[in-house]
Amino acid sequence: MSDCLFCKIAAGEIPSTKVYEDEICYAFKDIAPQAPVHFLVVPKEHIRSVSEITGANSSIVGHIFEVIAKLAEEQGLGSYRVVSNVGEQAGQSVFHLHFHVLSGRDMTWPPG
Ligand code: 5GP
Ligand code: ZN
Repeated sequence: MSDCLFCKIAAGEIPSTKVYEDEICYAFKDIAPQAPVHFLVVPKEHIRSVSEITGANSSIVGHIFEVIAKLAEEQGLGSYRVVSNVGEQAGQSVFHLHFHVLSGRDMTWPPG
């Protein structure tokens, strides 16, 4: 999608600090980290949010979770949180599917 921040980041058109990349997804450090470890994993295909996951694209999401597990293992993240905000009230500010991976500090539950 031409006017999408995370499409541009995943395509390398806007700079970011890359954590991982393959043909399906791109992982990069969040510009405003909320924990000592905070990176985002996005599909290269434009999907607006979790609400647009269907049988036609869910294999991408499965792949992203495999990547998250691999990166967490490689980075030695014993405990971490994976978050995807859906809609403005839940805190979504960029409308391209992304999974936050947060680690390195105590976290509260329920979230605010
Ligand atoms: P959301 O609020 O949609 O759940 O998450 C969007 C995330 O993207 C936020 O944590 C925000 O800090 C991050 N973000 C927004 N713009 C940029 C950017 O240009 N570069 C990077 N690396 N992260 C960004
Ligand atoms: Zn996009």
